[in-house]
Amino acid sequence: MKNKPIIAVDIDDVLADFASFFVDYSNRNWQSNLTHDDFNEDYGQVWGVDRDETTRRAQQLHDPALFLAIAPNFDALATLLKLKENYELIIATSRRSSLTEATHSWLKKHYGGIFDRVYFSGIYDGVITAKNVTRTKRDLLVEHGVDYLIDDQIKHCFGAAESGVQAVLFGDRGWNKHDDLPAGVTRCVDWTAVEAYFADKR
Ligand SMILES: [Mg+2]
Repeated sequence: MKNKPIIAVDIDDVLADFASFFVDYSNRNWQSNLTHDDFNEDYGQVWGVDRDETTRRAQQLHDPALFLAIAPNFDALATLLKLKENYELIIATSRRSSLTEATHSWLKKHYGGIFDRVYFSGIYDGVITAKNVTRTKRDLLVEHGVDYLIDDQIKHCFGAAESGVQAVLFGDRGWNKHDDLPAGVTRCVDWTAVEAYFADKR
């Protein structure tokens, strides 16, 4: 018998203010003038640099010590505590596995006791292999019988919905604008909206 339904929660720009960190760090270190809404997952395009320089900068940016200091989304905790009464909460992240330890420490510090399991999809791990090049967050969700996903990336929400996982597209940001969301994908602009979305399910 299945226990509580499972909600998988993304970390960056859902639980953690990664975009602000990215923008601040870039502006300080590489003399750019980026704003929060300039951010997207294509770092090379955001920075306007070639592939080698993108790789170099991404390597510098993915310093576990820096990731430990990323600010949490302070609105998340109250909602997560309520959801935990009726759902199992797990983490589904595409962070590099080199950040595994820092990520566990960060979650313990800001969201201790909330998440039962932490999964890394491995999409962005340095060595591209036949396995991780085709592996997506959707595979991870299906493999672990996840019922809901909360994620700020359109591609993960759409992938989830195609696989029968109800997706909450988190936030209304420069990088996740979309006019016509398919069935199974619901935008929640903040954690209050997430709470309302799940209240409606009961
Ligand atoms: Mg994210």
